[in-house]
Amino acid sequence: MTDDRRNLVITGFMGTGKSSVARAVAERLGRSFVDMDELIVQRAGMSIPEIFQRQGEGAFRQFERELCGQLGAQRGLVIATGGGALVDEANRRTLGHNGCLVCLDCEAGELLHRLCGDRGRPMLWADDPEARLRELLRERQPAYARIPYHVDTTHRSLQEVVAKVAALFESNPRSWSVATPTGPYGVHLLPGGLADLGALLRAHGILGRTVVVSDEHVWPLYGPQAVSGLRSGRYDVASIVLPAGEQHKTLDTVRTLYDRFVEAELDRSGAVVALGGGVITDMVGFAAATYMRGIPTVQAPTSLLGMVDASVGGKVAVDHPRGKNLVGAFMQPLFVLLVPETLETLPEVERRAGLAEVIKAGIIADAELFSAYEADGEARDLRWAVERALQVKIDVVEADPYEKGRRAVLNLGHTFAHALEVLADYELHHGLAVSMGMAAAAHLAEIRGLCSRVTRERIVAALERNSLPTTYAAHPPGVIYQAMRTDKKRQASRLRFVLPRGIGDVVIDEDVSEAEVILALERIRR
Ligand code: NAD
Repeated sequence: MTDDRRNLVITGFMGTGKSSVARAVAERLGRSFVDMDELIVQRAGMSIPEIFQRQGEGAFRQFERELCGQLGAQRGLVIATGGGALVDEANRRTLGHNGCLVCLDCEAGELLHRLCGDRGRPMLWADDPEARLRELLRERQPAYARIPYHVDTTHRSLQEVVAKVAALFESNPRSWSVATPTGPYGVHLLPGGLADLGALLRAHGILGRTVVVSDEHVWPLYGPQAVSGLRSGRYDVASIVLPAGEQHKTLDTVRTLYDRFVEAELDRSGAVVALGGGVITDMVGFAAATYMRGIPTVQAPTSLLGMVDASVGGKVAVDHPRGKNLVGAFMQPLFVLLVPETLETLPEVERRAGLAEVIKAGIIADAELFSAYEADGEARDLRWAVERALQVKIDVVEADPYEKGRRAVLNLGHTFAHALEVLADYELHHGLAVSMGMAAAAHLAEIRGLCSRVTRERIVAALERNSLPTTYAAHPPGVIYQAMRTDKKRQASRLRFVLPRGIGDVVIDEDVSEAEVILALERIRR
């Protein structure tokens, strides 16, 4: 659950107003305020320029490291750090462990104006302070980009910045860093976060044009907010609205996207924002991965399935007439932005389909999450469930980024589900098919002696409690089995199943006989 006693840590380049902002925010929140630089001065018994002159930068950084350790062990503080303190990854981890890290940003031109003639800034002691400032900004940008939340202070008054930082903190944001072979990226759960798109992109060093792509359902609800968030970061924004639905997740639509990207003069200095469900995040991700050999992409999922599954993990794809997601790539996003209130407008069937994925995450690796969906619905907190399911997905994709082994566990229920979808000509909702598939997988696991009757009953009951289907009537088991054998996910000649051994524990099983599969299908037959 969320923790409202975590520290608020405010950092940023010199001149962005960290100390004044943090002091005012602390007052507003009724919290104790700590200025790291002030504490260092007290402890050292001399000013920061003197520490630099007499003991060198190394000694100053050592003071910072020790202080980060001490402050990170406390709670309920508002901390202003020095501008370089969180450039150090270990310091970021120490303070981020129980703290919300916010970086204040500002355009170089305004910073120069603010810092003009300030001799108390040893980092700017140089023949040409302006060139030194720009160089330092460039050097620190990648480290600042690793800080999850950003507030742009350019042209903003102190009061405006204070209000923005306090509101951000009170919205109780959460953030994850996903490790990948090509470097980490952030997943930020940020209420009201569409307004921060521009600040986040600036923090990631994006300078060029931006394009928001959405579908016809999501665009009218959230498109204008996304555009205004980007414009407030001083970006040129083009928008593209696509027809909604899996049937449009094709190379034809991708071709349209390429044309529109060219018209918008999008290039690698810019970024694409994919705003929508999994169809949009998959397809826009694929178009962005291939246009000009890869444009930075922000995944902004608005469906439950998109948030807990499709937007994280770097798999992007479109469908081919011969199979779902047959044409695709691995491309990690620049970052993922989850705006939880977008779930409020999700149609009921999409919410249920997303819940199937949440329950799936519970069966794969989180027994507590599963239990919450087994119990009475009243007490459930959807945001908490998103956080937990997301953690399961992140753990799996970090362990196996290119789906060479363990990542296949995310396909729990899918071997059955794909066959059911194909036989229904994709008229059956994927999430509902996965629910039926998970029920069948539970039966198959019981038949194979992998799980107990109680586990199977718990899985089926949890799905039913959440109004998800667990039986099927339209085709005889033999026909479904044949459809499964043509599934593209089939490895060589064997069918591969992900089967539960218990709640929170699944195995990949490729040793299942036809008779066992038929028997499992009989058991979910209405
Ligand atoms: P979807 O994108 O079609 O969204 C479902 C419907 O909900 C659409 O009509 C959409 O317009 C609407 N919608 C979305 N957000 C809304 C909101 N906030 N308010 C109102 N309406 C909203 O489908 P989906 O279930 O989100 O995603 C399914 C896709 O995800 C499939 O194509 C699947 O292959 C893909 N997927 C990809 C991965 C991956 O790792 N890349 C993982 C799982 C699924």
